[in-house]
Amino acid sequence: MNVMDIFETMEYGPAPEAAAPGLDWIKAHQPFDLFINNRWTRPAGGQYMESINPGSGKTLARVAAANSADVDAAVAAARKAFTTWGKTPGHVRARYLYALARSIQKHSRLLAVLESLDNGKPIRETRDIDIPLVARHFYYHAGWAQLMETELAGYMPVGVVGQIIPWNFPLLMLAWKIAPALAMGNTVVLKPARYTPLSALKFAEIVKETGLPPGVVNIITGEASAAGEALVSHPDVNKIAFTGSTDVGRSIRRATAGSGKKLSLELGGKSPFLVFDDADLDSVVEGVVDAIWFNQGQVCCAGSRLLVQENVAEKLYSKLRARMEHLRVGEPLDKAIDIGAIVSPGQLKEIQRLVDQGVQEGATLWQPSWACPTEGYFFPPTLFTNVSPATTIAQVEIFGPVLVAMTFRTPSEAVELANNTRYGLAASVWSENINLALDIAPKLKAGSVWVNCTNLFDASSGFGGYRESGFGREGGKEGLYEYVKPAWESNEPEDVAPSDGHQPDATPQEAADEEVQVDGWLPAIDRTPKLFIGGKQARPDSGYSRGIYGPHKRLIGYVGEGNRKDIRNAVEAAHKAGGWASGTAHNRAQILYYIAENLAVREQEFASRISEQTGCVSKDARNEVQVAISRLFSYAAWTDKYEGRVHRPPLRGVVLAMPEPIGVIGMACPDDYPLLGFISLIAPAIAMGNTVVAIPSQQSPLSATDCYQVFETSDLPDGVINIVTGERDMLSRVLAEHDDVEAMWYFGPRDGSKMVELASAGNMKRTWVSYGRSRDWLAREQGEGEEFLREATQVKNIWIPYGE
Ligand code: NAD
Ligand code: MN
Repeated sequence: MNVMDIFETMEYGPAPEAAAPGLDWIKAHQPFDLFINNRWTRPAGGQYMESINPGSGKTLARVAAANSADVDAAVAAARKAFTTWGKTPGHVRARYLYALARSIQKHSRLLAVLESLDNGKPIRETRDIDIPLVARHFYYHAGWAQLMETELAGYMPVGVVGQIIPWNFPLLMLAWKIAPALAMGNTVVLKPARYTPLSALKFAEIVKETGLPPGVVNIITGEASAAGEALVSHPDVNKIAFTGSTDVGRSIRRATAGSGKKLSLELGGKSPFLVFDDADLDSVVEGVVDAIWFNQGQVCCAGSRLLVQENVAEKLYSKLRARMEHLRVGEPLDKAIDIGAIVSPGQLKEIQRLVDQGVQEGATLWQPSWACPTEGYFFPPTLFTNVSPATTIAQVEIFGPVLVAMTFRTPSEAVELANNTRYGLAASVWSENINLALDIAPKLKAGSVWVNCTNLFDASSGFGGYRESGFGREGGKEGLYEYVKPAWESNEPEDVAPSDGHQPDATPQEAADEEVQVDGWLPAIDRTPKLFIGGKQARPDSGYSRGIYGPHKRLIGYVGEGNRKDIRNAVEAAHKAGGWASGTAHNRAQILYYIAENLAVREQEFASRISEQTGCVSKDARNEVQVAISRLFSYAAWTDKYEGRVHRPPLRGVVLAMPEPIGVIGMACPDDYPLLGFISLIAPAIAMGNTVVAIPSQQSPLSATDCYQVFETSDLPDGVINIVTGERDMLSRVLAEHDDVEAMWYFGPRDGSKMVELASAGNMKRTWVSYGRSRDWLAREQGEGEEFLREATQVKNIWIPYGE
């Protein structure tokens, strides 16, 4: 082909990046062993597996397959290293992280080539996006290591962290995991994905060269079924950080339930890409390319659902088809390629299966006229129109270059359609009207919202999901809390005496008989508190009451015996009170102050009630009431002060990090401190805009039920706080299993904590449980503060680039 021919056709010539440096490095090192204690270690079972190059379908390298003995060795190495690394000064850790960042930059080209070879993603992306972001993560977290002692005072590292990552951004996911873990003083055992181990192994080499102490970073390659599961269930691992599919995330939630392991889950998504009719459609087209054809669509936060305002839909589709016709699919190492290879034949088949299903479901399929290369695993960019919102392709994560389009008429319909998914990872909003865009962004249930942009990432801005996209954040200051715990927590959870319901020796009748013997005794005017649902006192569905006994088995009253149906009613009422979140923080503060004020008026009465239930002396009871009042003041204060941040990532624009309420929080209150335990939980939850279904102390619920009258006189809107008395663990299970409860807090024994974590896996609700560890509710550092506010919120990052 001569210059004239090229001029005629305007075809691209190939612009290949050399594979040789990558292939030579592989040749010199393979077969790859496990990286434990800074040493290359043969796998105990002597097993190796192959990694392929998806661009050619050919074998690339042989890599060790770890078994549980290897996992034991790696965890032991990490444990040993933790004893010193966990105490290494922040500045020293910062120096190491800084050295890792520098070294990654020095090896950036090799890393980019290896990543493209192993994963099949275009070199343009690995070179310009993946690897620079990897370095940025290590620099950014070097800074947090430096600042930890002052900025996270009162926190300590969690310990040994098991980290499990997927294949779609192999080195970037490693960086998201390892950088914050080391910055906060933890040691790690990381398992790369089966298909893409190579860049992690190059990283291991960098770790060794950098002189990180042995055992701080251990990398074990292997199969999910052996290495992955062994790491998850290992008793000496203090935390699991997982990125991958929702199904595996759910199984990890179940497997770790009750173990006391901290857990963060970054799971799948089906993210909406909303286009309003005033959007700049040419920018939108480029945005769509980045949303769904970046990394072959194998992106957890891919904008895979295109939601377009009806009047511009056809126009956008035709622009999109024209652009798709010009996308180039092919050899990942070709610098002029837009879309590379799908990671494996299995994934390719799965994409094809879902696309076939879309056709069967009646949607209209469109693909470009050209054909993909036949060697290697390629799939063309695909657009489905005429998609109905309930069909499989509209609901299921396809994890490939497949876009499904639907239309809406009004902004509120757009929000409804956007949120019509179990997921909540990300969303893009396109409109030239800033008022509209910033009105829509907070209404989308998603951890990241991009305004007139998409798929932007930065270490400064946390990333993570709502709902079945998981919980926890990576990046930003919020991401650090996934790798620390309050310093007052002891290493091993202590078991409190199991409190499986009060077992009175005396029957209610006997107890009552004792009372009659007192001189001058008169039967009290009966005051049996009912349940408190939707702002009204409601009779328990069961029709039964539960006797409440004070010290010496003295019967002091009855409360309603709540059941499943009562919980359902309470959850419904809590949902109906959703307006609480959209009201102002100022208003919420006013109501918390008002509750405090009305409680103060009845201080004596509440104190006697506490003594009556627990037998404590009146000085202590008064103190409990006073601390509860002070606590209400604290959260009234925090209401308009627990604010977000404005991040400044390296782009022209800002990122607004906004703490948002989680929604409906179910809570089982601690048994001790009948009033303070209850107030300490409901106050931060409602301060942040959540609504609550609370199960008061099972033994001593009367302080909570006495609060009805306080709430009723404090202008608290109906349904913001709902109270169901009864058997704690039975009611907690119903809450934990309920799909319309977004988070569950449980302060009770270890087995109950486990039950809550297990039962919550259904809709992946966030849980906060005590594992039977007791807390000093009177002490400010344990009983109130940012830990509570963090549990009551999730951070949404709204990206707003600027400039024309
Ligand atoms: P996957 O869940 O199959 O595997 C992820 C990792 O978990 C792999 O390392 C795998 O070996 C390991 N694993 C699998 N089963 C395991 C088990 N039972 N116990 C322990 N470990 C186990 O996911 P994948 O196919 O590798 O990745 C694609 C998925 O990841 C998609 O659903 C995508 O949305 C999600 N993802 C999410 C994010 C995010 O940040 N939210 C980022 C990237 C990918
Ligand atoms: Mn591979």
